Amino acid sequence: MRRIIVAGNWKMNNSVRESVSLIRELGAALDDVKGREVVVSPPFTSLYEVAKEIAGKKIRLAAQDLFWEESGAYTGEISGPMLKDAGCEFVIIGHSERRQFFGETDESVNKKNKAALKHNLTPIVCIGERLEEREKGKTFEIIEKQVRAGFDGFGASEMKKIVIAYEPVWAIGTGKTATPEQANEVHLFVRNLLGTLFGKEISESLPILYGGSVKPDNIKGLMEQSEIDGALVGGASLDAKGFLKIIKF
Ligand code: PEP
Repeated sequence: MRRIIVAGNWKMNNSVRESVSLIRELGAALDDVKGREVVVSPPFTSLYEVAKEIAGKKIRLAAQDLFWEESGAYTGEISGPMLKDAGCEFVIIGHSERRQFFGETDESVNKKNKAALKHNLTPIVCIGERLEEREKGKTFEIIEKQVRAGFDGFGASEMKKIVIAYEPVWAIGTGKTATPEQANEVHLFVRNLLGTLFGKEISESLPILYGGSVKPDNIKGLMEQSEIDGALVGGASLDAKGFLKIIKF
């Protein structure tokens, strides 16, 4: 059976106090939720406090990025061991905002994926095409390049520990969701590609989340699709009640 994962990416939002308040509201309402893995991704400054709040609860912790070196003279960066120490089990890698604003490339994504696995963090690896790429009919070409490069050097045993999030860049924070059919078409393409590269077991079991303006009123249609295993939720994860509706779709 496939895992269902709903992950909230808080991006650069919430003070420590606000993060604690949000996680308390979520945690109190999640005890009766079954069959979902719930992950939250606060900013770095809130990770440790949120980790303390979720101890013994069903919520798991993700960071929004990491650097591939373990320690040293890399001002401003955060390493895998530091994230483990703060209580993370997951780390988002290659988010389109990092690709767009901070020079993230498929090659740096690959290094980060390797570093995450080395330190026993589950990468949630973001892939997705930009609007002009979709309009030029290049969606599958871009997705294939991101998957091949991001997991270059990986075999089935590494891929067992990976989660992928398909996030069409034109749908992130824009209010434009891909239709469930558009999303499913890309998810199926990714699944087939994973089959070619890493074999049937990986193709069938690797969780592929959808991300891009997921809201309480569109989650059901997305989750009815055969190849969608959950959601990576940005803006709507900042409101506990809305995020709970998405989790409990
Ligand atoms: C995201 O941050 O990964 C995301 C999908 O954002 P939003 O839900 O706000 O579009």
